Order: sequence, then structure tokens, then C-alpha cells
Amino acid sequence: MRIHRVPAMANVHSHAFQRDLRGVAERTSDPGDDFWAWRDAMFSAVDRLDPERMKQVARRVYAEMRAAGYGVVGEFHYVHHRPDGRPYGEPNAMAIAVAEAAQEVGLQIVLLPAAYHRGGAGIALVRGQQRFADPTPEAFLARVDGLRAWADGQDGVGVGVAAHSVRAVPADWLAAIAEYSDRHGLVRHIHAHEQPRELDECRAEHGCSPIELLAERGFLGERTTIVHGIHVTPAEIDTLARTRTLVASCPTTEGSLGDGCFPARAYRDAGVRVAIGSDSNVIVDPFEEVRELETLARRAHRTRHALLARAGGAGDLWGEIAANGRASLGVEREATIGIDLDHPRLAGIDPDDVLRALATCAAADVVAALAPPAAEERA
Ligand SMILES: [Zn+2]
Repeated sequence: MRIHRVPAMANVHSHAFQRDLRGVAERTSDPGDDFWAWRDAMFSAVDRLDPERMKQVARRVYAEMRAAGYGVVGEFHYVHHRPDGRPYGEPNAMAIAVAEAAQEVGLQIVLLPAAYHRGGAGIALVRGQQRFADPTPEAFLARVDGLRAWADGQDGVGVGVAAHSVRAVPADWLAAIAEYSDRHGLVRHIHAHEQPRELDECRAEHGCSPIELLAERGFLGERTTIVHGIHVTPAEIDTLARTRTLVASCPTTEGSLGDGCFPARAYRDAGVRVAIGSDSNVIVDPFEEVRELETLARRAHRTRHALLARAGGAGDLWGEIAANGRASLGVEREATIGIDLDHPRLAGIDPDDVLRALATCAAADVVAALAPPAAEERA
């Protein structure tokens, strides 16, 4: 078997437990079913979780990630408390369960505990959401302190910080979380511009878009990642470029949920770094995510000169997205994976074209079977 080594992909945005919505979330019958109906199904799945079940589902999906060519996952974690909202005896029990699952399968993880406080402006939490929520930013950040203390010295576990969305936290929380992440040198993530309704709600509450609000509250910057960033104006893209903010696209999930079309070429033209995430984990295949990014851009512009044609070197779009992903997660070490050049998908391809092929005609099954995690690959 001829093996070609490339960087392992960084998966910058995952909600491990949503893996168990596969199939079941597709039982739609109402023509009005949309993202918000899917969210109700997701809240039902949340109801059934405890630390042990969280660990089981995370172990399943992280084993898939590792075999598919991901080397590190950013887990955007918001199921913090018991179903009625009371904290567990160990306040980080759910996050620790997720981290231990990653350690067991040899996948590096960056935990991104996410702040959540409300159902929206003036909207109370509904059933399912209580366990996401904290009363104050201080209470939330005290738990992040505890998680960082736990993770210190753990094998292959890093910690960043997140706000769920501008819908789920008041604006003063954004400034507090940004200040905390700057003070401790942590990456910070937030969902934004995924659904038009979210933009309408933000305008009604703040008189501006989520990205404008994040800019005003000091949340943007080179250690910040905006997750989704679909419904954006040229001025908002300029703001992200100017502040060196990264954007995470989650193509298979955004397709599954009917979120809209990610403006990949506009980001590339503006010099905004784009990373990828598996998000709801409906699919765990980084090759499919990269190919969707590329081919969606081709469709949108009716061109074959999209992202790949502009990627540096030998068309290394894979390597570029992997590097952006490591920057998004604050991970310096580059793990590698082996690609089986004799796999039927790749056999006969000119060595000079292998990197172009990875972005256009490969899938997770070209990843050579994994040896047990090597010590040097575990950070
Ligand atoms: Zn998400």
C-alpha cells in the first residue's frame, strides 16, 4: 500500500450528542418543517442525556471522526446541567465525560463550553433549555475556570470558551466572555448568521446584526471564530476580514438543516480564513465537507475556478482548511494522517494531483487504517 501523509483535518465545530438525531430527525411530515422544528427534536434528545450517555455517544462519534481523518475536534458544549437546570455535584461532569470519550479513542479535543442564559430577548427558557443555562456570566466563567483547572495536565485536552449565540445571551455577557478569553489567551467561538430569523431578532433587540453587535462588544478578533456566517453582507465580511476573525462552515449540516448557502468565494476574496466543522454530525467525513465547500462555490458562481484553483502550492485546499482549523482551535501541533494512494478512488492519479483529488473525489475511506494513537500524536 502506498501511503501519502497529509495534515489531519481539524473539526472546529461539533455537538457530539446530536449524532443520535441521525434518521430520527428526518421524520418530517409538515411542509412548514424548518430549522426551528429540528431544534425541538434536538431538545428531546437532550432530555435523555446524563454524563454516562453523553460519554457513550461522544465515544461513538469521536471514533468515527478519528477514522475519517480528523485529528482534533472543537466540542461546542452547552449541555451543562441536570435536566431541571440544577448543576451536577461536579459542575463540569458533562464536559469531562465528553473529554474522556475523546481521550479513549485518541482524538485531541478542545472543549468550548458555551454560555447560555435565555430563550431570546424577553423569551424564557423552554423545556430542554434549562440545562444549558447559567444565571450570570460570573457563574458561567467560574465553571470555565474549574474546567481549565481539570484539563490542565490532561492528555490531549484543551479549553476555549464560547457564547452560544447573541439570541441566547444578553450583550453584556459577550463583552465579559471576550475579556475573559483575552485575559487567558483562549480561543472564543459563537454561532452567528445561520438563520434569517436570528438576524431579525437581533435587529429588533439591538438595532443591528449579530456581527455588528459582536464588533461593538469587542468579541471579534484573531482568536474568534464565527460559526456559520451564511447570511452576511459585504460590509460584514469586511468587518470579519479587518478583525482577522475566522469563520467555520459546516456544509453537510447546513445542507441538512436548510440553512442557506455559505458565501465561500466572497470570504476568500476578502482574505477571511475559513475552517470546517461537522456540527450536528449527520455526516462525519472531512473530505465531503471540503468537497461541498468547493462545489457549492462552483455552483453559486457557475465557475470551475473557485476555492481549489486559488489554494496555494499544488492546489492544497485540504492543507489550507486544516491550518485554518488549527488556528480556530488554538492548536499548534500538526498531526498527520495516511492516505491510501492504492484505494480505488485514488488509484492511478498523478502524484502531482493528489492534493487536488483530496478536495474533489475522495471520501473518508481513503484514510489508511489507523494504528493505535501514537504518543507523539496525543499532544
Ligand atoms: Zn452548532
